[in-house]
Amino acid sequence: DIIKVMSPGCIDELEGLDQECPNYVIAVLEDPETKAWAMALGDVSTGELRVGLSQNIQELQEWVELYRPKEILCRRFCRAGLEKTFSGYQLRQGLLFSALPEGILRDEAGQKKLLKKIFGSGDLKKQPSGQVPGASVVLAGLLTYFEQNHVGTGQFLKVLPIQDQDTFVASETAVRDLELFETSRSRSSKGSLFQTINHCMSPMGARALRRSLANPFRCPKKIKERHETVGELISTGEAFLAEVRLRLKGMGDIERLGARVVGARIRPQELARLRDSLGRAETLAGLFEKSSCRSKLLWKKLQGLRDAAEVRKILSHALLGEPASSPGDGDGIFKEGFDSKLDRYNEFSRNGEKKAEEYLNALRDETGISSLKIKQHKTFGMVLEVTKSNLSKVPANFIRRQTMVNCERFVTEELKDLDDALSSANDQAVDREQELYQALLLKLLEYKKQLVQVSDSVAHMDVFQSFAWLSVSKDYTLSTMISHSDALVLEGVRHPVVEASVGRHQFVPNDIVMGPAQKQLLITGPNMAGKSTMMRQIALCAILNQAGGVVPARGAKLPIFDGIFTRVGASDDLSKGLSTFMVEMSEAAYILRHATAESLVILDEVGRGTSTEDGLAIASAILGFISKKLNCWTLFATHYHELVHYSEALKSVRTVQTEVLENSGGIKFTHRLIDGASGCSYGLEVAQLAGIPEDVIASAKSFLRTHHHKKQEKVQDTRTDQAQKSKSSRRELFRASDLIPVSPSIDSEIAVLTEKLETIKIEMTTPIQALNILYDLKSILEKRGNQGRFQDGQT
Ligand code: ATP
Repeated sequence: DIIKVMSPGCIDELEGLDQECPNYVIAVLEDPETKAWAMALGDVSTGELRVGLSQNIQELQEWVELYRPKEILCRRFCRAGLEKTFSGYQLRQGLLFSALPEGILRDEAGQKKLLKKIFGSGDLKKQPSGQVPGASVVLAGLLTYFEQNHVGTGQFLKVLPIQDQDTFVASETAVRDLELFETSRSRSSKGSLFQTINHCMSPMGARALRRSLANPFRCPKKIKERHETVGELISTGEAFLAEVRLRLKGMGDIERLGARVVGARIRPQELARLRDSLGRAETLAGLFEKSSCRSKLLWKKLQGLRDAAEVRKILSHALLGEPASSPGDGDGIFKEGFDSKLDRYNEFSRNGEKKAEEYLNALRDETGISSLKIKQHKTFGMVLEVTKSNLSKVPANFIRRQTMVNCERFVTEELKDLDDALSSANDQAVDREQELYQALLLKLLEYKKQLVQVSDSVAHMDVFQSFAWLSVSKDYTLSTMISHSDALVLEGVRHPVVEASVGRHQFVPNDIVMGPAQKQLLITGPNMAGKSTMMRQIALCAILNQAGGVVPARGAKLPIFDGIFTRVGASDDLSKGLSTFMVEMSEAAYILRHATAESLVILDEVGRGTSTEDGLAIASAILGFISKKLNCWTLFATHYHELVHYSEALKSVRTVQTEVLENSGGIKFTHRLIDGASGCSYGLEVAQLAGIPEDVIASAKSFLRTHHHKKQEKVQDTRTDQAQKSKSSRRELFRASDLIPVSPSIDSEIAVLTEKLETIKIEMTTPIQALNILYDLKSILEKRGNQGRFQDGQT
């Protein structure tokens, strides 16, 4: 018989799965008229089932990127098109295309019957998902596929919506740009936010944390509930948390083991693991009950921890401490005393072995062959083995069965009888063990809801303790709950991953304050000065906060965002036929169409993928649109220093810069965010640091000087012209060619001068040295004077 068909999405054996990730199959079905795609998503290893609708193929792509299925089911004629659409994803993640069973798609009565069999109702009205167009059809297709592959559907208890209502989905680009689960360059989980902040001790906890980061809450009540719980855990202190973590350590995957119970595929050793894990869940509940924790959510989850106590008792009563891997193997599965019949068969087979030994000893005495042995032979059963040197002593009642190189094998009538009795006792014991095991699995089926409950409770408790542990061990804090119209305040905020890589003491924390009147920050500053890091750390704080967790800062007050959007970096997407700049613009377009006044938007160097003039024009127009139309919380980093001038007309935009100190020894980045605008990118210095050959740097410097000189001349010409024009045009969107770079801000120059002055030891300075120092200081100022101004003379 075929007992199971293996495919990437039909695995439920724990060894074949990544314990921190779900393992989804997605079934998709296009409506030929509306071109919308109905989706059903299932994980046979956990029993998670979701349905939803994508309005178009782009949306479907987003969902696939978010849930990362291992297998996609579609109708055969759609396959070629979808393979093209998902070729990029397929290359990165691996995706098996399988056929959606056709028959059930056209059989409305069959669909209803199937849904009724699994969920007790022929439609999805009463399910958390509600009715979704096309969902029943595609879901029936997915469930039929599981049945055809013999993985069973008993573990699916309810149908959830593709997106939980009180959460928002981090967009595909935000997940990528913020490196939530893997680094964008090497696509490795090492160096991701998840890997850095995950302190969960159980596989269910890790998966729940993952889900919380990908689907942060937008409902303040839910966030508050979690904050209260995590806050309580933090205040119980490190020692208590260490105890909790100890109880969670080594906890088996109750969620996946539970799904295997329901599918009746669980092995005895896995059942023992489930029993031990349920025991741990109960001791965890005991630990909390004695603690001072009283948060409502925690207590709700505590109740769940004890839900499967009955299952643990049944398993403890039935199973040996370490049962065999399957019925009939090794030392058995069940404890002595669990079943009298089994005990009798076992006793008989044990006695049989004793009797065989007694018979052997009697024969040895009788024949005088002291080396006589009893061996087990596959065909002949028990045989007596006599070495060649003792063959003369063999009595007449020995019947020859086999001749070997050094010995000969015999049986006797008595040995045959003994063998028959022993093997029938063994067979009976194996049959009985099989019978009892099936009965045990059937009994456990009654507790499938309780098993789901315990696993959910452990997962939540684990996520809460992971956040609390992050707070006590890594100095993270809970944000104060504020209303959306309040300010965003982060004191001493850090980037979790950069901090972990450069070291806690090397990382320079920043203070960020954004108010409702100025919700956009225009960030300028040199290359490598920390602009991207700073923007990303704010977005990561928002995600961690709305996942109900702690943030890497000394103090925090964060609004609740309804979505987080990012546009960072430069890469093409050849699989979608998009060039680098097209990708950049498509992502920017998506943000401008979807962000609201309650969203957080990160834009890193928008417009850099095209010519400087076009890029600057687009960047300034986008900034204007955001400020005047969307008024979303925005962090906008740019090397177009000209934008600073333009932003002066935008009331909601505040200009800040990453600080850089310059002295005779070169430039130094403090990674601090300060007010004002920077006029220099120090691109050539950074290029030099990166190892660009000296010749190239020299040539670049010469180009820069000539280019700069030409611009200055142009400014002189246009100044006269400008003076005659109306003053009112000053704030209009300007042409890039009319502009010259803004000089470095006064602040940074003062900083350079101050640093120089501070290093002078007057008492040890000779008059000549003093003159040289004065000369140096003056030349810094002169250099600044040469760096140009806006046409109206403003620095
Ligand atoms: P570019 O304009 O070239 O993109 P940037 O200003 O965006 O540069 P980042 O990429 O954010 O600079 O930072 C460059 C590097 O500086 C980081 O990889 C990190 O090693 C270091 N860095 C950034 N911020 C900090 C900080 N606050 N403390 C310590 N090191 C930092």
